[in-house]
Amino acid sequence: MYFPVYRPRRFRRTENLRRMVRETSLRVDQLVYPLFVMPGKGVKNPVPSMPGVHQFSVDTLLKEVKSAAGLNIPAVLLFGLPSAKDEWGSEAHAESGAVQQATRAIKDRYPDLVVITDVCLCEYTSHGHCGLLKGKEVDNDATLEVLAKTALSHAQSGADLVAPSDMMDGRVGAIREALDESGLDQVGILAYSAKYCSGFYGPFRDAADSAPQFGDRRAYQMDMANSEEAMREVALDIEEGADMVMVKPALPYLDIIRRVKDEFDRPVAAYNVSGEYAMIKAAAANGWLDEQRVMMETLIAIRRAGADLILTYFAKDAAKVLRA
Ligand SMILES: [Zn+2]
Repeated sequence: MYFPVYRPRRFRRTENLRRMVRETSLRVDQLVYPLFVMPGKGVKNPVPSMPGVHQFSVDTLLKEVKSAAGLNIPAVLLFGLPSAKDEWGSEAHAESGAVQQATRAIKDRYPDLVVITDVCLCEYTSHGHCGLLKGKEVDNDATLEVLAKTALSHAQSGADLVAPSDMMDGRVGAIREALDESGLDQVGILAYSAKYCSGFYGPFRDAADSAPQFGDRRAYQMDMANSEEAMREVALDIEEGADMVMVKPALPYLDIIRRVKDEFDRPVAAYNVSGEYAMIKAAAANGWLDEQRVMMETLIAIRRAGADLILTYFAKDAAKVLRA
């Protein structure tokens, strides 16, 4: 079919024509809202590099959750900050930990809201690495036990899904086993399967106070240049029991999202990370970009790449646009 018989512009003439042939949609059902929770009362600390994002104590978090639930956002993802850090990240699995308390409080008031908890140690360790150290290296197998313990404590607090983000080998299997042994076979695992070592996490480390005190995370997070390896990571996680898999970050890795969607039969989540959020916020604050427009363009791009779910700090803003 060639010009002049076929003229693609015919379907671009009016908004209703464009609507009819629009291929990709974004629904509020596909948004997950990440939140940071810390010990204390009445805390609502703004995160300077992420305008609109705060660290909350459980009481103020509940207000934020209420407004998200009011916008019909189906799920939140919780990150915790401890009252004290140690070498072993002990507070990650404390019953009185911020995530555990927040999960119980949310489930008490909003039982239908899906609570997903991030499972990692970097916010809880004094050295800021995602696992236990042996010398200057992260000890994979020793870390598995602590991650499983952490995931179990989240599940026992009422989490619907636990989301390991550490990138240790074998952690999905270890967590599945721990959950099943405790009769929590209905708690799902959203695995950060293809998590890249990325410069786009910068602002998150302010929010979660989780920057490594020495070295970096290249020895466990994926190399940005690798695509085949991402497929092996996803395959491993599914084999070990992942119910959902994630690609993180989203925007610089849209090709990976598409490959995972095409090659595997599991819901695919994509994390629109702090740096992706901060770039848009900063440019918009300078008047260089139309914030709402590029936000929606970004989220649609992630959906078009194949993501079923998007974890995004824009969740509330996008939900408002979608409602209007
Ligand atoms: Zn971590």
